[in-house]
Amino acid sequence: TPSYTAKKLVILGGGESGAGAALLGKARGYDVFLSDHNLLQPTYRDLLAKENIAFEEGGHTAERILLADEVVKSPGIPDKVPLIQELYRRKIPVLSEIEFAARYTRARMIAITGSNGKTTTTLLIYHLLKEADLSVGLAGNVGNSFARQVLEDPKEYYVLEISSFQLDNMYDFHAHVAVLLNITPDHLDRYDYDFQKYVASKFRITQNQTPDDDFIYFAESEALTAELSRRTLSARQWPISLQGTLPQGGFLENGILMARRHGREFTDAMSELPLQGPHNAINVLAAVLTAQAVGLTDAQIHAGLRSFVNAPHRLELVATLDGVAYVNDSKATNVDSVFYALGSFQEPIILIMGGVDKGNDYDQIAPLVREKVKGMIALGKDNTKLTTYFGEMVPEFYATQSLHDALQKARSWAGPGEVVLLSPACASFDLFKSYVDRGDQFRNEVLNLANN
Ligand code: ADP
Repeated sequence: TPSYTAKKLVILGGGESGAGAALLGKARGYDVFLSDHNLLQPTYRDLLAKENIAFEEGGHTAERILLADEVVKSPGIPDKVPLIQELYRRKIPVLSEIEFAARYTRARMIAITGSNGKTTTTLLIYHLLKEADLSVGLAGNVGNSFARQVLEDPKEYYVLEISSFQLDNMYDFHAHVAVLLNITPDHLDRYDYDFQKYVASKFRITQNQTPDDDFIYFAESEALTAELSRRTLSARQWPISLQGTLPQGGFLENGILMARRHGREFTDAMSELPLQGPHNAINVLAAVLTAQAVGLTDAQIHAGLRSFVNAPHRLELVATLDGVAYVNDSKATNVDSVFYALGSFQEPIILIMGGVDKGNDYDQIAPLVREKVKGMIALGKDNTKLTTYFGEMVPEFYATQSLHDALQKARSWAGPGEVVLLSPACASFDLFKSYVDRGDQFRNEVLNLANN
C-alpha cells in the first residue's frame, strides 16, 4: 500500500498571522510545526495546544525547520537572518501568510500597499464595501489573520493591507484590484539601503494581474511613476492626481473630488468628509475608484465616505483647549507623512518631532517648516540631529526627553487659532513602547492639561 506522508509546513513567528497560518495549514492536511524565537502570547499558545499543533518558543531548532517542504515566514523576520538564508539556499519555498492563505480562497482580492496611507485606505475601502452589504473581510497588516478568516469565516471579498515585507514573499498571489499609494524612502535597513529594491518590492502588488484587473496609483509619487514608465502592466490603470483634471482616474480640483471610470463620474466635496488634508484626498480617491471597480452605487459611496471613522493616531484631533487644537499624528514615523501633516493645516503650528531616526532627510519638509512652524519641540533621547537641522530655522526651538515637559512648553507658546501637532517623523522606541503608546500618552497628557 502506498504510504502517504503529509507535506511539512513550518511557520516562523507565532503572532496573529503565524497562528492563523498554522490553523489553516493543519485543517488543509499539512504536518505543521510552528517556531518562534520569542515566547508566544498565551492566547496563541493555548490555541495551538488546543488544535494539537506542534510548536516551540524561545528559540528555533534549525534541524527540524530545514526539513520543511514549505515555510510561512512572519514579515517581521528579516531575510538576513542566517536560518532564512539557509532556507533560500536550499530552495525551500518561503511564503508570506497572505500568499499561503490566498491559495485557499477564490474570493476577490483588493490589495493596498504604499509607504504611507495603507491603513487609512484599507479601512476606508473595507468600510465602503461593508456598508454596501457585501460579504467582505479585512486582513493583512490591520485586522485579524487572513488565513484564519479564510478557514473560519470565508468571504467573497477581502481587503488586504500589504507591507513590502509581505510582498517580498508573495509569488502567485493575484490582486483583482491593486492600490499603490506612493513610494517614498522607508525601511531601507531591510533593503540593503538600496531604494530601488524597495521600489521593486512595492511593485510586486501588480504581479499576476490580468487585463480584467485594476491598478490604482498616485501619479504624483515620483519614484512610483518613474518605475511605472519602465514597466508594461497588464491591468487597467487608474491614476490619481491632486493637480487637476484627468480623462480617466481620480483627481482633486478646487476642493472637489472626481473619479472617472468608463464614462461614469463620481463627485464629492472634500470639505464634507471626515477625512481631511491633501494626503487623505489621495486615499479617498483610491477608495472611490476601488468602490467603482467593485460596482458600488454613487449613493453607497457618498454615504460610506461620510460615516467613516479613521483609526486613532493619524492626524487625530484630541482636544481644543483655549482655542488651541491638539493633534495626535503619532503614526507619522517617516518624513513624507510629516510633509502631509504640515500641509493639512492653514494655522501656525507648534510641531513636536523626534524619536529614533531612520536615516531621515529633512530637506523635503524644510520649506513647509519655514512657512508654518512657529515653534518646534524635539522629543527624543538624542535630539542632536533635529537641533542641528532646525535649531536656527524656526522662531522657537526646544529639546526635551519628556512628553509632559514638551506639552507644557507647547502650551506656553500656543495662542488661539493655532495647532499643537505631534508628528514625529521617527520611530518611537527610544522613549515609548510603540507609536500607539506614544499617541496614547500624548492624548492623556493633553486631557490632563484640560483639567489643570
Ligand atoms: P500606513 O499604514 O501606510 O503607515 P496610515 O494610514 O497608518 O498609513 O498613515 C500613516 C501616516 O501617514 C499618518 O501620519 C498619516 O497621516 C500619513 N498619511 C496617510 N495617508 C497618506 C498618504 N496618502 N501620503 C502620505 N502620508 C499619508
